[in-house]
Amino acid sequence: MTNKTNLKNCTLKELENYLESLGEKKFRAKQIYQWIYRGVCSFQDMTDLSKGLREKLEESATIECLELLQVQHSKTDETKKYLFGLQDGNKIESVFMKYKFGNSICLSSQAGCRMGCEFCASTIGGLKRNLTAGEIMDQILCVQRDTGEKISHIVVMGTGEPFDNYENLSKFIYLVNSKEGLNIGMRNITVSTCGILPKIADFAADFPQVNLAISLHAPNDEIRNQTMPVNKTYNTSMLLEACRDYTKKTGRRVTFEYALVSGVNDQSKHAEELAKMLKGMLCHVNLIPLNNVQETGLKGSSRKEAQLFKDRLEQLGIPTTVRRELGSDINAACGQLRLTNSEDSL
Ligand code: SAH
Repeated sequence: MTNKTNLKNCTLKELENYLESLGEKKFRAKQIYQWIYRGVCSFQDMTDLSKGLREKLEESATIECLELLQVQHSKTDETKKYLFGLQDGNKIESVFMKYKFGNSICLSSQAGCRMGCEFCASTIGGLKRNLTAGEIMDQILCVQRDTGEKISHIVVMGTGEPFDNYENLSKFIYLVNSKEGLNIGMRNITVSTCGILPKIADFAADFPQVNLAISLHAPNDEIRNQTMPVNKTYNTSMLLEACRDYTKKTGRRVTFEYALVSGVNDQSKHAEELAKMLKGMLCHVNLIPLNNVQETGLKGSSRKEAQLFKDRLEQLGIPTTVRRELGSDINAACGQLRLTNSEDSL
């Protein structure tokens, strides 16, 4: 690690101040900012800056880039899973997915995670550290460079709990949304949380246009307490109350993620309990058969069971989709690639 300023963490305004502190003209900041968002990793490649300025920048600043360690290509669709190295040796992963509506990326917000969800591979090994705004953003630049394609949609659903790293997440959203940067619309960004309540309120106030997804995964406190330790601090009735407040403030629908685990939360009685719980809310349920993570011993429900669960929820008036499983042949489930490449691997 160096003591140099990583310009990837800077907003345009911060970059302007930085250039002024070097005795340079403010407009140079915009040129540098645009180079960064074109994916350039070295001051030497910023060809419209004088040699003198490039050298001056090199002395005090860096443009940190993630190191591309591994790419896995799905054989069944065009999904690609990336493993990146951070400057301090930690590893993170991102997933690139092609949809009819555009190209989407699933981003990590932390190296590791401390939320402890029973079914999740990222939980094994705990939290290493928060990612900086620049490291969250750089996953997009690296994947754009590798694929040669522009990314239009972002889901913060990779490793980590974004609301456990709220400050850097917020800065990241400003960076990708900025017109001179990637210019990705707020409505094309989705943030997923396991339910850190105070941050849901902050998020409604700070980013009312960004989509909110909640990892619910259970129709009652009994099951949720067993699988998601966060539920012991913020139980389901507190969580749903926070979601209702969110909708009141923003007018936006909440998406509930529900991973179906065979024999645990996928029975007809669970669908009925879930429907009762969500009745009257402006919401949508996203079902996904749990991706099997060897270490957890839990098993995902079959496609057929998922369809039955969806049908029951819809009969009871809850809009539901079964998420398409992209990249299941390349372990695209949260944390799996990082896990097989770390010392924490069992
Ligand atoms: N911490 C955030 C975001 C990261 S996890 C959150 O909890 O929402 C992204 C999503 O993948 C969450 O809904 C999470 O519960 C889910 N997930 C984790 N492990 C999974 C698995 N093995 N199969 C299916 N979904 C999983």
